Amino acid sequence: MKLDATDLRYVTGEEFRVLTAVEMGSKNHEVVPTSLITQISGLRNGGVNKIIGSLAKRNLVAKVQNSKYDGYRLTYGGYDFLAMRALSKRDSMYSVGNQIGVGKESDIYIVANNEGVEMVLKLHRLGRISFRTIKQNRDYLGKRKSASWMYMSRLAAQKEWAFMKVLHENGFPVPRPIDQARHCILMEFCDAYPLRQIADIPSPGKLYSSLMDIIVRFARAGLIHGDFNEFNILIRRETGEPVVIDFPQMVSTSHENAEWYFNRDVECIKTFFRRRFRYESALYPKFRRILTNEEEGEDFRLDVVVAASGFTRRDMKVLEDYMEEIKEAEPDHLSEDESSESSGEDNPEEHYDNVESAKESGSSPRIPDNINPPPISPTVSDEE
Ligand code: ADP
Ligand code: MG
Repeated sequence: MKLDATDLRYVTGEEFRVLTAVEMGSKNHEVVPTSLITQISGLRNGGVNKIIGSLAKRNLVAKVQNSKYDGYRLTYGGYDFLAMRALSKRDSMYSVGNQIGVGKESDIYIVANNEGVEMVLKLHRLGRISFRTIKQNRDYLGKRKSASWMYMSRLAAQKEWAFMKVLHENGFPVPRPIDQARHCILMEFCDAYPLRQIADIPSPGKLYSSLMDIIVRFARAGLIHGDFNEFNILIRRETGEPVVIDFPQMVSTSHENAEWYFNRDVECIKTFFRRRFRYESALYPKFRRILTNEEEGEDFRLDVVVAASGFTRRDMKVLEDYMEEIKEAEPDHLSEDESSESSGEDNPEEHYDNVESAKESGSSPRIPDNINPPPISPTVSDEE
């Protein structure tokens, strides 16, 4: 999907009010009735109809007719717009450049502020995989069912933001977090290559140990990355230093499956170095030894800091449950193309008549970050 920064500057105050009304209405309506939009926006009836027509033309909302009543729903585009507008109102960003990544559950863009400084905008897209797969156990979403793609995407962004902030503040090699709004995170643009793209390095042993050190530092601070692999490790072009990204799946070392997650992170690095650089070492970190070695531990628990930062344990649980269900529902990590073949009424995008649909985004190249690789095996095995 193309992000359009022109909208940011050419949306009138009234259009913005109507769009916000659709967003508010969708907190408890699958399809927001036009009358409710009028009521929330506080504008005249005729005025709202005209404005909503123009918003629909620009794909910021979509008309839904095949239900009990006519109404509208916010599209991804509309939600993107609201988030970017919030960021631009705060002078955090000004313009949108190229898309540099399409993950399974996010889109990554280069953006800039009004001084031309480049940054990375990450838009979380959790509903893209399709909500039909998580029908059975949706009770935890409670009343928010109707807006679950927005809600889950926002939770993922809030979690990633909370972690990126505490990690950065505590000197971990992560991008500098700049701002967060709705389902978006704005961060430092790192002039770096994903480790995945690096064919050769002068001293693999050195990089291997600095990556293992990062895993150990995480654990001593009470955290496990949970997706520590060659896609989520960038190597700075100038210095060759690693930068770790992508935190929505981070877990605490007190998580019930902490050791399993820890071992999987370690194993990803071992396997990658063996295959790519023919480098093997007998040295690698052991979870129990780190946890029992109290005197070497950090005097802070970042998992506790995050819990205190506003991203609550309950939020964490809701997101974890969602990710669990996605894993269970799609054990082979079907692409969106495949998974959207059999349609179900729970896919929010299916009610749209002209939005950027899951199918469209499915045709773009994808970074296959597996959510749930089998225990102790590499995330990818396309080498050799
Ligand atoms: P996903 O959750 O979709 O995997 P990531 O956060 O891992 O999203 O980002 C996907 C890709 O976007 C990365 O592999 C990297 O190439 C690029 N990227 C992400 N963040 C940055 C950044 N701060 N600086 C430079 N490139 C980045
Ligand atoms: Mg990633």
